[in-house]
Amino acid sequence: MANCAIVGINWGDEGKGRMVDLITDHYDVVIRYQGGGNAGHTVVNEYGKFALHLLPSGIFRKGVVNILGNGVAVDCESLWTEMEDVRSKGVSITPENLKISDRASLLLPWHRLLDGLEEQRLADKKYGSTKQGIAPFYSDKFQKKTVQAGELLYPSHFQAHLEGLLEWKNLTIEKVYGAKPYTMDDLMAWVADYGEKLKPFICDTGAFLRKAQEEGKKFLFEAQLGSLRDLDYGIYPYTTSSNAIAAYAPVGSGAPWAKIDEIVGVVKAYSSCVGEGPFTCEWFGEEAEKLREAGNEYGAKTGRPRRVGPIDLVATRYGVEVQGATNIALTKLDVLSYLDKIPVCAHYELDGKKTDAFPFPAVLSEAKPVTEYMDGWKCDISGVRKWEDLPQAAQDFVLMVEKAIGCHIGYISVGPERDSIIIR
Ligand code: GDP
Repeated sequence: MANCAIVGINWGDEGKGRMVDLITDHYDVVIRYQGGGNAGHTVVNEYGKFALHLLPSGIFRKGVVNILGNGVAVDCESLWTEMEDVRSKGVSITPENLKISDRASLLLPWHRLLDGLEEQRLADKKYGSTKQGIAPFYSDKFQKKTVQAGELLYPSHFQAHLEGLLEWKNLTIEKVYGAKPYTMDDLMAWVADYGEKLKPFICDTGAFLRKAQEEGKKFLFEAQLGSLRDLDYGIYPYTTSSNAIAAYAPVGSGAPWAKIDEIVGVVKAYSSCVGEGPFTCEWFGEEAEKLREAGNEYGAKTGRPRRVGPIDLVATRYGVEVQGATNIALTKLDVLSYLDKIPVCAHYELDGKKTDAFPFPAVLSEAKPVTEYMDGWKCDISGVRKWEDLPQAAQDFVLMVEKAIGCHIGYISVGPERDSIIIR
């Protein structure tokens, strides 16, 4: 298999981590290219169950090199805590199998503080941030007001740079939010603790990737969050603060010259959404509670109950288009087995008219779902491994989704474990 990106088609939590874990075997390098510790990829394998936030999901595979690319928000503290947790379950993490781009910017302690302060100020108009500091981090990065990981390797330069940033940032912390300012001692203690631990992992990952390509190595790009949370193409402003779409993968990875041959879009057999923003197909009450329970839809990072609803074909088709997906992995089909009839948000109604076009963000909250139903299969499908062994009603559902979204469904996931998969 040539270079591949695995991306989310919807709001995130589609099961990307599980798909990356499954197919890393075919790749030499797994690269995270955007986002930070604000979302979680759940992986279940021979080492146990993990909610990965920053580590690429290839970390469990021997011989695979994992990279945090320049587009990632490197939160030294969260990353180190996660590395220690994964190591404690017997997984080896060394500078040989984990590399941090020297050009990745560092998420500093004040980013998390400011994220919380701003959500507090917004009160009932809040964006639903996970308060991991991601939005303040990316705005500082684009203002050129943070430090790059590689600067940790040049201590006197790093300290002088940080001193300048501290003076500037304290203006906002004190004057805008009335909070306690940071001191250089606070920051240097943080650097001495977490920065020092990560130094051995920081290198010129761009040079590494160029050499790897010359040697014929294959890359797997791993996205965080889905199309609808992409900063430019998502449901702005209820998006994340970076580009989650596949087109950004080479840029955020340190391989801007790389060609992506296959884009696997991950779609869940129903919808879920963490946080705020319009969610057209949303269910409420008992119906929602049953689906949430069946799918265990609670945030990997926050434990928050996720908003849920039936599969949304309008949003999914749009998500497939913006990703340029070439193949789809449909996950959690097994979760729908309890339903007599399988609900599908087939169209939207906007301004009294039925539409299949995904609306502009400003009017999205005015759209209403048009729900249709398909026959349920009402039996346990979690042990099925072959397409022809799926009940006819389940096959019909998959074929209907495939037709509606205009992309081949090549993988059907029927359980969280690595081998609970049907390859079609
Ligand atoms: P990600 O951020 O896209 O990786 O998504 P999450 O980490 O939220 O993963 C989705 C959740 O569903 C995790 O708890 C997975 O273990 C689980 N999961 C993934 N695929 C399947 C599946 O096909 N069936 C079931 N029952 N669970 C799944």
